[in-house]
Amino acid sequence: MIKAPRGTRDLLPPDTALWNFVEATVRDIFRAYNFQEIRTPIFESTELFARGVGEETDIVAKEMFTWEEGRGATLQQQMSSFWTSKHLAEIEDLDWHVVFENRRRPDLVVKTATNYLVVEFKRRTINQATIDNIKQFRKVSPPIADWYDPRLLLVFAEEPSSFVRRLAAANGVEIEVIDMPGYEAPESLTLRPEATAGIVRAYIEHNLASRGLNKVFCIGPMFRRERPQKGRYRQFYQIDAEIIGPPASGSDAPSRDAEILELLATLLDRLGITGWTLELNSVGCPNDRVKFNEALRAALEPVKEKMCADCQRRAVTNPLRVFDCKVPEDQPIIDKLPRISHFLDEPCRKHFDAVQEILKAVGVPFVINDRLVRGLDYYTRTAFEFTHGALGAQNAILGGGRYDGLSESLGGPAAPGIGFAIGEDRLVLSLQQKVTPESVLRKPDVYIAPLGQTKDGAGMNPEAARLARELRQRDLVVELGDESFRLKKSFEAAERAGAKYILIVGENEVKSDTFALKNLATGEQVSVPRPDLVDRIQSGR
Ligand code: AMP
Repeated sequence: MIKAPRGTRDLLPPDTALWNFVEATVRDIFRAYNFQEIRTPIFESTELFARGVGEETDIVAKEMFTWEEGRGATLQQQMSSFWTSKHLAEIEDLDWHVVFENRRRPDLVVKTATNYLVVEFKRRTINQATIDNIKQFRKVSPPIADWYDPRLLLVFAEEPSSFVRRLAAANGVEIEVIDMPGYEAPESLTLRPEATAGIVRAYIEHNLASRGLNKVFCIGPMFRRERPQKGRYRQFYQIDAEIIGPPASGSDAPSRDAEILELLATLLDRLGITGWTLELNSVGCPNDRVKFNEALRAALEPVKEKMCADCQRRAVTNPLRVFDCKVPEDQPIIDKLPRISHFLDEPCRKHFDAVQEILKAVGVPFVINDRLVRGLDYYTRTAFEFTHGALGAQNAILGGGRYDGLSESLGGPAAPGIGFAIGEDRLVLSLQQKVTPESVLRKPDVYIAPLGQTKDGAGMNPEAARLARELRQRDLVVELGDESFRLKKSFEAAERAGAKYILIVGENEVKSDTFALKNLATGEQVSVPRPDLVDRIQSGR
């Protein structure tokens, strides 16, 4: 039997009624707050997430579903012919492995008798972060370092290489740039692990800045290669909203942060989810981050040896990410680390204070959690999560924050923004304790049962179909039976469908244009002339 892949699942009726209920409620709320829908592709260029979400985040480093869309000869073929023609003579023992899966590694490592050559392809843009990574990896412990020794960084560039050369020289990385005429780097694509990067890409691509402040939402699947467990899937659904615009549109104002948070409180309340906690923090701006990272690095230096391998790496490459660590043994160490709250500059502190003031004024309760940094690099200033006790270990229903520099880091104009992503799977899970699918599902108002044969064999089916069409056009929910059913079987089918009435369409009824209508709950049966049917069914008697 072919089963759904690990970490994915089918959403079946009647559970889908709950999902529809959630989405309909959410759409109503977005309308009230003047948000409009945006739909972006489910896959994007890998570079978007690498640059937007951050190379060092768990999402990008470990969890993306990435593949390459080849163009022309495969990489291996291209490389073989290149090496054969040019470099083979120099290299005694050619033993190379292509490493595509793990994005923290280069595309290709060529092992020679005396050295390792590290090959990066143009598609994975070589930027400051790449060079930093290479330098950092040299310092980090094995196993990475024992093969990752980039004394020589070999870059296959399609574009003029002066930038790469300058960058490498400035960083003391030896570099050799080789042009491969005719080489077309394969396009690396990734199933979206989150929505914000794609929305900001669309904002830049379509110059949405010209519209001033954009308030948009989207609902759809996201993909992360995580270890599946309750409340954590590899394909999951998010309800995402963003407020983004040029600075002149007021997109950086604390009132926008508060509006988003108040919207979320309203949304959860409207859905009937009680007992949530809003955890709030400010992660500052890049200026604060430089100081904070320095302090973190210094604090981590004497203790990092005791931490998990991920933290040891993060301590060097991106110390903020240490706060994402879930390893229990590391928590006491992390608890003692400096907190970003002590490093906020004056404007960031004021911004954060203003957000809190508005929240108090509108009566949205929150707690400050200065450990909250969120697992994505793009956040600035306000960062938040709503948690719900009933969800267990995976207790975050939703999270979000401000990302004032994201557009620039994707090559766009300054476009401060703030947004959130609700985990719809978890929202539905917490809802299920209170709301049953049945309670939000619209059952059939009426089951139409055609009865009795005619000479042509069609029986009362045509009449029943005509009647069903009429009633459905008047917005009744109608289930249509079939001539082949006996009366008893029709009743059973009507009960199973949860219909309120059964309507008998027999020869006599059609002749008199008056139909037997039976209320399945009370057992009361009446004859109703065709013109009165809709009123009678709608009145629910
Ligand atoms: P994030 O984009 O990581 O901030 O996630 C936002 C929300 O999406 C989280 O608070 C979760 O509710 C939900 N979420 C994230 N990852 C998963 C997953 N693998 N399965 C189900 N829900 C998830």
